[in-house]
Amino acid sequence: MTPIWTGDVDGKCSKIKETGIIGSLRWWYEALVRGYGGYACDPSNSECKFDYDTYEKTKNIEDGLEKVCPVCRLFGCTGWSRRFRLEIKDAQKIPLCLSATSKSDYRHTKLDNLWWLKQIYKKSEKVFFDDNICIEIHTINKINENFDEEDIRNMVLFLFAVISKQGSIGAKIQNGFGVFDIVTVIDKNRLSRGLEKTKELAEIKQGGQVNFPSFNDFFSLTYSVSNDSIYIQPEKFFGTLNSLLKNRFVPSGFSIKYDLRKKIKNDSTPCKAICSNFEYLCKGENEKMVRKTISRFLFGSDKDKFSAKINFTHLYKDKENENYLLNVFGFVPNKVSFENKTLEFNIRSIKNILYIEFGNPYNEEYGVSCLSEVIK
Ligand SMILES: [Zn+2]
Repeated sequence: MTPIWTGDVDGKCSKIKETGIIGSLRWWYEALVRGYGGYACDPSNSECKFDYDTYEKTKNIEDGLEKVCPVCRLFGCTGWSRRFRLEIKDAQKIPLCLSATSKSDYRHTKLDNLWWLKQIYKKSEKVFFDDNICIEIHTINKINENFDEEDIRNMVLFLFAVISKQGSIGAKIQNGFGVFDIVTVIDKNRLSRGLEKTKELAEIKQGGQVNFPSFNDFFSLTYSVSNDSIYIQPEKFFGTLNSLLKNRFVPSGFSIKYDLRKKIKNDSTPCKAICSNFEYLCKGENEKMVRKTISRFLFGSDKDKFSAKINFTHLYKDKENENYLLNVFGFVPNKVSFENKTLEFNIRSIKNILYIEFGNPYNEEYGVSCLSEVIK
């Protein structure tokens, strides 16, 4: 429903890459496992490894898997291969064209985010967008007797269903890319079994970690934005203009995010709303620096690839809805240490900040309970 981005090493998006989709699936699956109380290693600093020597002695697969976390059991690690692969048929490429103003700033103040857009997207001016992108899931091998090929297929299907319902896939999801709908009808029993098996897998190794995405800290707000009020006339844009769309742009996820980030960076009112100990943190400290820390934590940094905690989709059309939809989602912990500060968040209040622009969300979800929505 919005274009998909899977970046190359040099930041271009020249092909939909299996590795890009797998990386994103893994990130979401880690959050699922942590949400169910399981331990998910940090793949950039993982100690998970299949113990081949012990396995050779006992021929018991569980002995080999002793030091392999639930996520690596499915996605692989040193000595243990991923249990499935994806076959992706490439989609059509379309020119990327982003307007450099947002709905809110055209109403209030003018922001110049063109510089940022150029910084992030100059290497790739085309993205993948098609009515149907075909992804085939092939299971390669079982994990053990308790998780056979069929279970693996169900877990991967459940994972796709979760992402489709609650978020987006691929790279640059914080800037709006990768919202998708599953066209193939999936048997609900398969999804329930995928959920049950994921819970079971999470129980193999328990232990929560702080400062990593977990569905305990998940929120998702979906807004319906009326069709006629949405189009903007861009004064500046990035990319190739399609003549049909010359005067009709919808605000991009990037613009909406940029606008909210600016508000949090420059104004104490939204900071007070979202960060419950903001006033405490400001005692004896430069308030501007506190605002900057909060904004850096929530929105990440596109330049040094520090990941965002709040993601904004581009606006997209729902099948059943004539209006445009916007989904704001992410993982924001109640309490976290960051840049030598302890930040306390009240994520439900983000709704109040977004209310000014988008009114009340028509759907809102918080925490692990949203996962059972997926199988209904
Ligand atoms: Zn692991």
